[in-house]
Amino acid sequence: MLSIIKRLLKLAGKDAYRIRLGFLFSFLGSIFQSMPLISVFYILREIDRGQGEGGNIQFSVIWLCLTLLVIGVLGNMIFRYLLSRFQSGTGYDIFAKQRLVVGNLLKRVPMGYFSEKNLGKITSAITTDMTFVETYAMHLLDKVVNGYIEATLFSVIMLLFDWRIGLIFLGAVVIAAIVYRYLQHRGKELAPKRQAAQAGLVSSVLEYIQGMAVVKAFHMTESSSQRIHSSFEKSRMANFKMEKTLIPIVTIYDFIFKIASCLILFVVPYLALHGSITVSVMLMFLVASFTIFSSIENMGGVTVMVRMMEASLDRVENIKNVQIIDEHGKDIKLECYDIKFKDVSFSYGNREVIHDVSFTIPQNTVTAVVGPSGGGKTTLCSLIARFWDVQKGEVQVGGVNVKEITCDSLLKNISIVFQKVYLFNDTVFNNIRFGRPDATYEQVVEAGKRACCHDFIMDLENGYDTVIREGGSSLSGGEKQRISIARAILKDAPIVILDEATASIDPENERDIQKAIEELTQGKTRIVIAHRLTTIQNADQILVVNSGRIAQRGTHTELMQHEGIYRNFWDIRQKAANWTL
Ligand code: ADP
Ligand code: MG
Repeated sequence: MLSIIKRLLKLAGKDAYRIRLGFLFSFLGSIFQSMPLISVFYILREIDRGQGEGGNIQFSVIWLCLTLLVIGVLGNMIFRYLLSRFQSGTGYDIFAKQRLVVGNLLKRVPMGYFSEKNLGKITSAITTDMTFVETYAMHLLDKVVNGYIEATLFSVIMLLFDWRIGLIFLGAVVIAAIVYRYLQHRGKELAPKRQAAQAGLVSSVLEYIQGMAVVKAFHMTESSSQRIHSSFEKSRMANFKMEKTLIPIVTIYDFIFKIASCLILFVVPYLALHGSITVSVMLMFLVASFTIFSSIENMGGVTVMVRMMEASLDRVENIKNVQIIDEHGKDIKLECYDIKFKDVSFSYGNREVIHDVSFTIPQNTVTAVVGPSGGGKTTLCSLIARFWDVQKGEVQVGGVNVKEITCDSLLKNISIVFQKVYLFNDTVFNNIRFGRPDATYEQVVEAGKRACCHDFIMDLENGYDTVIREGGSSLSGGEKQRISIARAILKDAPIVILDEATASIDPENERDIQKAIEELTQGKTRIVIAHRLTTIQNADQILVVNSGRIAQRGTHTELMQHEGIYRNFWDIRQKAANWTL
């Protein structure tokens, strides 16, 4: 139990003092809470004594006790208030920061990490797990700490008043502690399974929704829902098993206190009848027997949740322990912007898709990359940006091995317009400004104009303030592409990678876009994965990529002189171009 407190304190960082203060307030609150009971005892004793002396009750003592009683109630209220004031919201603060920490880490892991399996894990860690902990952590912590404090405090008070009753109390606490340990032990076993089933649920729902279009189009509703059903079933079973195992133990735990209360109810009058305690002590114990166990009893009910919280924290920790790609990277300011591949081989998992590739892209030149689909063009570009690490050889940017530099200082120099554009569920303005977060409104509009998207943006409902739907689903492919070009124009990085950037743009816009791209890339190191003949023709260098190798390289004129992939490709393209004319 201590370990979870330590973990939360560590996670809280700067806010840990609020949790610690909370413990102090909880302790002080408990002391005040015990005051009414003690006051009742002294009132009863005074009445008892007074009656013994023929009705000579000292009302000043009674008033003093009543005042103490009121102070006890007020003090407890004040400290409970302070407790919630300082501690309650801390969970939300901790996890607001933790989410950002995870977000920052995820920017620095190899792309391979974001597989389907991990996507579910990440999603459920950030949503289900963190939400669970932030919602309940402080509440549970309070219950547990309060239970411990009251168990100790009341043991001392009871023993002081009467050692026999004190021993009954202590005995109950000790037996309960043994059951509690067992409860914790079983919880430790079951809670992670339950949380894992919960995560499985999240990822299968995620997958199901993402594939909805395919499911509908191919009438696969039956078979595809089978997986989701089985994950529902798993989650149901895990929850059920946990309840079924733990509820009897919790019941036994509660039962111990009920028995102890009954025991006190029997023993106290017995002791009073035999004259070994006074009536006032008897009455106090009778009153106390109904309430003294309540905090400790509460602890039992929350143990399972504490275990679930631990399991959730483990899963969050797991995500945070991911191998980041640039752990030993240095912040290096690049001096020049040429790109060099030296005997590079690269595999996705076990499948090698790039084999022993070497080439150089001099600074401020245009390199066109062409070749059949699936040949490895996109992969080569991802290696420049170090989305993945190569298994063999070296990728250099500006003479620096990309493995030696932090992702941040590398990516600062590179603008990429991807084949698959992703837009955030945010305004058009913010989507463009993503390229340079400190850009002004005018600069964003200027970039929009240069990327030829200003007109259609102005036609949207709220212009630049229109919120784009998740993934950009409310815009056409060409529109998304142009927004992503505007983003790159705004970033103005010295290296520009265009991955079939004009592939999904309609012909009438293509000329404008081409102009925009030309402008974007003036005086920069450019790598263009292209299918447009003019781009290729004017390139300083053409790399023909086929089956993960550089099949041919040279300028257009050089390549056209030989029989080969390039000339075939060109002939087919040329014909196709003629057809459209
Ligand atoms: P191109 O851009 O030339 O069409 P890619 O670089 O996208 O080719 O793909 C090269 C090869 O790598 C293909 O066989 C493709 O199936 C495989 N591949 C691409 N991306 C991944 C990935 N994320 N995981 C596994 N294999 C991939
Ligand atoms: Mg590609």
